[in-house]
Amino acid sequence: MTSLGINNPLLSIHMTYAVSPSSVVSLAIVGSTDRFPIRRVYCVGRNYVEHAQEMGFTGREPPFFFLKPADAVVPVASNEVVSIPYPSLTQNLHHEVELVVAIRKGGKNISAVDAASYVFGYAVGLDMTRRDLQGEAKKQGRPWEIGKAFDHSAPIGPVTPISKSGELSAGAIELTVNGKTTQKSDVAKLIWSVNEIIEHLSAAWELQPGDVIMTGTPEGVAAVVRGDTMRASCVGCEPITVRIAD
Ligand code: MN
Repeated sequence: MTSLGINNPLLSIHMTYAVSPSSVVSLAIVGSTDRFPIRRVYCVGRNYVEHAQEMGFTGREPPFFFLKPADAVVPVASNEVVSIPYPSLTQNLHHEVELVVAIRKGGKNISAVDAASYVFGYAVGLDMTRRDLQGEAKKQGRPWEIGKAFDHSAPIGPVTPISKSGELSAGAIELTVNGKTTQKSDVAKLIWSVNEIIEHLSAAWELQPGDVIMTGTPEGVAAVVRGDTMRASCVGCEPITVRIAD
């Protein structure tokens, strides 16, 4: 049997596509002209106690995960204001500021003590959520995609390499809307630390270079409307500014 397959680069030279393949979505890297290409966007649910409580839950449950498509990511440079459209079908678009971890090498069943060596770097991101649609999906026992995985639902800033930032385990994470603070916490308050998240996640999926993990949001999630400007910041990361288009 030959091992040649459709992913073999020697064969792909001769392959033509019936429709144009999507381009790779990538993030800027602080201090480099290289880009960080995104493969998958993993997200952690309810990973700060006060946010779990505001959503009607208590205590430390095992971490759980959902995904957004890579092309839901909106790359945001540190010195620009990026506009995203107000999404369809919702009357309750929420912001969730989150520490985002970029993965540099593949692995499965990674232990928390080894996890830092898999981290390329960190960014701040927004897990935008159609809260009304997510709530309805929860109530009906349906998947969350319509509430979480819509177009433009993941603005993410430049990646700061871990070689510059060091391992991030404490420090401020904050979101302002039109200059007023709505979310303010500390990444030390993550129920499951970045290293523990990587351990749990890599037991369920084999991580690959280019994966990013949105690690969960602290309390203070709230609605934004057309014309609002959000500024997201997190220790060790370049802050970003995202506007909801008129
Ligand atoms: Mn979230």
